[in-house]
Amino acid sequence: SSGQSGGLNNLENAGSSDAKNLRVKLVLLGDSGVGKSCIVLRFVRGQFDPTSKVTVGASFLSQTIALQDSTTVKFEIWDTAGQERYAALAPLYYRGAAVAVVVYDITSPDSFNKAQYWVKELQKHGSPDIVMALVGNKADLHEKREVPAQDGIEYAEKNGMFFIETSAKTADNINQLFEEIAKRLPRPSPSS
Ligand code: GDP
Repeated sequence: SSGQSGGLNNLENAGSSDAKNLRVKLVLLGDSGVGKSCIVLRFVRGQFDPTSKVTVGASFLSQTIALQDSTTVKFEIWDTAGQERYAALAPLYYRGAAVAVVVYDITSPDSFNKAQYWVKELQKHGSPDIVMALVGNKADLHEKREVPAQDGIEYAEKNGMFFIETSAKTADNINQLFEEIAKRLPRPSPSS
């Protein structure tokens, strides 16, 4: 894992891959405070550390996972640092993204509404074959739950998305999230 500075030029070629080693750009979207940074840090560093933010402009963290068929998938994870709220910048983040992870907080109906806004944005401006995941985070806070899992399941199904509930705090379903995304990626043909 590395915290390299990509710069906007790198957005253009952030999706090249061969058949066995995929490299994919992944963008995270969702309300501030839903746990996007914590999900990334849990996945990349195996830690829950709310004080260390990865959100530094156009930089990213990367993490490679191996699938059972010996394919490797290198995720280049872009955290938008909240800059996506400036409408003019948002398409720069989506461009070239093979994966979008839209996160809400299961204790916050507002964040679920905001997630639906991001899904519509991606449907308008994202690449047509983008793999989209809907993530209900903070699943450990079940006593404060205000968004039923069924609402997430139904919304995701209607919009052709993969759905999962996670906890960056307990690590529940964090690796599964990225493994399931990896399985859904379109594979380049071996000759290309
Ligand atoms: P971001 O703004 O979406 O990147 O959100 P952060 O990753 O900074 O997290 C916001 C707050 O939510 C922090 O105070 C975290 O401690 C808390 N948080 C993040 N993930 C979880 C989780 O899975 N469970 C609980 N209980 N708190 C979480």
